[in-house]
Amino acid sequence: MKTYVIDVQRCSIHDGPGIRTTVFLKGCPLSCKWCHNPESQSFQKELSFQEALCVNCGLCEKVCLSKVHSITENKHTLDYRKCIQCGECEKACNSKALTMIGRDLTPQEVFEVVRKDMVFYDQSGGGLTISGGEALSHVNFSLQLLKLCKEQDIPTCMETSGYGSITAVDKILPYVDLFLFDYKVSSEEDAKEYIGGSLECILDSFNYIYEQGKNIILRCPIIPFVNDNKRHFEAIAELAITYPNILSIELLPYHNFGISKGRNIGKDIECYAIPKDEDKLEWLSFFYTRGINKVHLT
Ligand code: SF4
Ligand code: SF4
Repeated sequence: MKTYVIDVQRCSIHDGPGIRTTVFLKGCPLSCKWCHNPESQSFQKELSFQEALCVNCGLCEKVCLSKVHSITENKHTLDYRKCIQCGECEKACNSKALTMIGRDLTPQEVFEVVRKDMVFYDQSGGGLTISGGEALSHVNFSLQLLKLCKEQDIPTCMETSGYGSITAVDKILPYVDLFLFDYKVSSEEDAKEYIGGSLECILDSFNYIYEQGKNIILRCPIIPFVNDNKRHFEAIAELAITYPNILSIELLPYHNFGISKGRNIGKDIECYAIPKDEDKLEWLSFFYTRGINKVHLT
């Protein structure tokens, strides 16, 4: 029951209430154009290269039988398509410029890290958060990890795009205390163009989770020229009215951290404008003037 884990981040304060341990799984069925964690899209291990750490020693070029690395005139280039993820160059690199992203771990192995911070969960109201990639695509792994936490009364939270089957949702539902549910676009055309998925599937999951009485925080990334428009905000407002028990709505203004992470793994991630402060305030007032006060900027 192993899956590729990108990171187990302890003492996180951004992924649900209190102090949390956030588990980032590798692999997502969507491909959002602005993805801030592009290393979480592929279900395979990936090689990451940080140019700033490289001293051009050439050791990686020597050990790589697939001829991924090439250093000429102190310029290091990589042909990522040839990489077979053997990890030999990572071992050879003394500068830590090369990292294989994705460790093959069991739920029990991850839980051993999670349980170390139980004292912080008790004091802060925190717990475990499973994040992505997309946890619904790793449903058996997620289920086992959630069960291990529940056996120790550790509060659980799952960040999800909702892009998965109802069968998968149904499996993990009893073991999740709080869903951080992403809502990114509000039409099938935009879903196809910008996130590579189906809005209907996402809304079906959302509705199912809500109807089961689960706690939900809606998370809405705001991406200039993609969804910072009245039509999308009206759709968010409509959700707030139709589903009054949503705990809160978080607006997440776009940031471009994903671009350098993408470059490190040989992926081009689109760059958008950073939202201005006055625009952010306008988004908030859009909701407040409609009497929807549970909206926050993060
Ligand atoms: S992981 Fe293996 S195949 Fe990929 S670049 Fe390194 S040595 Fe070459
Ligand atoms: S082994 Fe590391 S430091 Fe040396 S050339 Fe390769 S990436 Fe750069």
